[in-house]
Amino acid sequence: MTSQTTIKTLLILGASGDLTGRLLLPGLARLAARGHTPGLTLVGAGSDDWTQEQWLERLETSFADANSQADSSGKRELKRIHKGTGYHQLDVTAAGQLAGLLATLKGPVAVYFALPPKISQLACEALTPEQLPAGTRLVMEKPFGSNEESARHLNKILAALVPEDHIHRVDHFLGKATVLNILGLRFANNFLEPVWNRDHIAKVEIIFDEDLALEGRARYYDGAGALRDMIQSHLLQVMALMAIEPPASVDERDLRDAVATLLRASSIKAPYAKNTRRARYAAGTIDGRKVPDYAQETGVDAARGTETLAEVQVSIDNWRWQGVPFLLRSGKALSSARKEAVVTFRPPPHLPQGFTGVDSPNQLRIGFGPDTLQFDVDVNGPGDVLSLDRATLHAELSASELLPYGEVLEGVLSGDPLLSVRGDTAEDCWRIIDPVLKAWARDSVPLEEYAAGSPGPEGWAT
Ligand code: NDP
Repeated sequence: MTSQTTIKTLLILGASGDLTGRLLLPGLARLAARGHTPGLTLVGAGSDDWTQEQWLERLETSFADANSQADSSGKRELKRIHKGTGYHQLDVTAAGQLAGLLATLKGPVAVYFALPPKISQLACEALTPEQLPAGTRLVMEKPFGSNEESARHLNKILAALVPEDHIHRVDHFLGKATVLNILGLRFANNFLEPVWNRDHIAKVEIIFDEDLALEGRARYYDGAGALRDMIQSHLLQVMALMAIEPPASVDERDLRDAVATLLRASSIKAPYAKNTRRARYAAGTIDGRKVPDYAQETGVDAARGTETLAEVQVSIDNWRWQGVPFLLRSGKALSSARKEAVVTFRPPPHLPQGFTGVDSPNQLRIGFGPDTLQFDVDVNGPGDVLSLDRATLHAELSASELLPYGEVLEGVLSGDPLLSVRGDTAEDCWRIIDPVLKAWARDSVPLEEYAAGSPGPEGWAT
């Protein structure tokens, strides 16, 4: 399938950075190899004094994987992008420098801020609307602000430059396929929607456990922690899709309105010592690999008390979900990787006498990356038909051919903000977690400890 590209130039700021090399360029290469980038010019810019050769070398390395799998037209497209690209050295925060480059580019332009968050903000502050070619799209990376107030301030700066539907606040966690898989499951199956509420669902858990530790990312992670890094952004978005009211369509306006309405009804309530937990990993072993104590990792300031595992219970105060706990958890250096949403149904009101065996609540599990569906049901037998047993129905859900950042860029290039976080929602996600961050900063919730490679602190396992 070839999508219509409206953008003529993709300008990546921070072209020498980690995100660009490891995620953005490989994502772009997959898109290009599948014919989604007709006529697109790629331009790189950064503060590094790179030569054109260094930039081309970076492209070759990042494109290699897609190139090896591409058919002849895909290879031609990758070559065309490689041939037409250029690198520019500039300080994006210096008055006039970014504007000067923009004036030379063919519009409409998508400006991708693959920069440290503070630099992105300064770069936007240095721009005026007249300096942007018509139709410019601004692509902002996470974290979007560091609390509700700073997110609101950043939104004001962006709103002065381009309309909201030309701002892409990236959330690469939820690819388009995953979003549509959740919506398809919920709204295309009449047996699910009537029971998808407080009368029939006891709790919803959204878990993102990693078996990876810090992996040298102290510079970013130690200032963020699990709550900001994963829950504030990604897991609240998953929760919203699991809980929204049925939208009339899956276009960006209907869907993002539904998500915004749901998040406005959501909060984490005090007492935070009851409704939130935090912990940090100590030395341990994961799959035979020795992992050092987080506090001893290079670049970590132990006194900051950054959590590597966070869990919060979100309440959704509306008719459908009143009283149903939504438990969101994410952490690093755990015994196994587990990425799923688990919906636990209430037990049946009466089990006919005569049945034996275990009657456990039905659970529906949606696994993320690869996307899967698992439904645990109680059935009779085998052998004794009166004895209840557990059976699992399993399905693979549709996968995307594109890498997560390929899907992000596809939305940017085709002018579809469906996958990006709308401004009001970005602020609301901070509004939900700000009180918890403050309570943790006051030490109202103890920072527990767990050995790397364990399932978490004692008593946490779900
Ligand atoms: P890096 O520090 O690796 O790269 C930042 C880039 O910005 C460098 O190329 C740097 O150039 C450039 N830069 C800094 N200051 C200026 C300036 N004044 N003018 C022009 N260029 C400048 O960061 P990442 O690539 O890791 O992250 C970029 C963004 O992406 C961040 O917001 C991060 O939170 C987000 N992100 C990153 C992920 C990752 O896995 N890396 C994942 C998800 C989000 P120089 O080296 O010369 O200073």
